[in-house]
Amino acid sequence: MIDVRSDTVTRPGPAMLQAMMQAQVGDDVFGEDETVNALQRKAAELFGKDSALFCPSGTMSNQIGIKLHTQPGDEVICDQLSHIYLYEGGGIAVNSSASVRLLQGHHGRFTAAQVLDNINQRGDSHFPNTRLVAIENTVNKGGGGCWDLEEIRRIRQVCEQHQLALHLDGARLFNALVARNEAPRSYGELFHTISICLSKGLGAPAGSLLLGSKEHIGRAHRLRKLFGGGMRQAGYLAAAGLYALEHNIERLQADHRKARALDLELKSLPYIAAVLPVETNIVIFTLQEQVPTEQFLAHLRAHDVRASSIGPRTIRFVFHLDVSDAQFDRLVEAMRAFR
Ligand SMILES: *Cc1c(COP(=O)(O)O)cnc(C)c1O
Repeated sequence: MIDVRSDTVTRPGPAMLQAMMQAQVGDDVFGEDETVNALQRKAAELFGKDSALFCPSGTMSNQIGIKLHTQPGDEVICDQLSHIYLYEGGGIAVNSSASVRLLQGHHGRFTAAQVLDNINQRGDSHFPNTRLVAIENTVNKGGGGCWDLEEIRRIRQVCEQHQLALHLDGARLFNALVARNEAPRSYGELFHTISICLSKGLGAPAGSLLLGSKEHIGRAHRLRKLFGGGMRQAGYLAAAGLYALEHNIERLQADHRKARALDLELKSLPYIAAVLPVETNIVIFTLQEQVPTEQFLAHLRAHDVRASSIGPRTIRFVFHLDVSDAQFDRLVEAMRAFR
């Protein structure tokens, strides 16, 4: 099966499994797992942050990040397409009792001017206190598009002027770093907290990291416990994460090349209505009105391709390290064979 439903479907290969089996472990709730500690140190250093916290999922690292910066009744500014709003089970409301101000960005990317226009006036008790701005890079529902670093710098300035915190949902940040040839530290210096996923394109079986100041991560440790995310011999998973950071970043280019090649192919297929701009490993396209989505997906399944729709007539393909070049060719053949 060629599985392009998500980059979360990857399984550890022999070398990653070997690293996991050789991990030195201990009880991480006591801070005694050397492999977790090494992963946290490495990630923090990479981004120029004080500290990092290993979490079971990206949802948890985002939700801890949001809770660190807000009090009940505060408001979070984010894009209408953002994962923290759409796909985290209403966690902003449940975990932080915070309200949300949704911006309509360009494929999930908004501007500093939009942020400025949506900050509530302080000192007027009618309004929730605007406290946090959250950005997602790359934007999952925006077709894997990357943010312009200059715009983020302008947003950070607005945050400084209005005492707002800035959080990055960097589930696929490494895709953006590789695509735009940017340094992790450029992001580390702009954001108060950053969540990165090891289980997406980087290929680890599970795990995310929250990065921040010593003070933030100290408080995050307590919140992780509160959320039920304190794990014991988590070093077996952290070893996979360390392996991923050491071996699987540069190779993301290969996934991006496949996405670009598919983008070109889609332009010549008569049943495709539109494709979102392709920049990283995600390709989102819509089918012509007369094409039934279920029939298209069934055709793909019959050709050993597993894909899924993310909206009416809207299909998302995600490329990852378990899609080989030969499988990519078969995927293209299956696409061409659809009538
Ligand atoms: C996958 C993802 C997350 C975190 O998801 P988990 O499945 O909880 O690890 C967060 N943000 C974005 C944009 C994602 O794609």
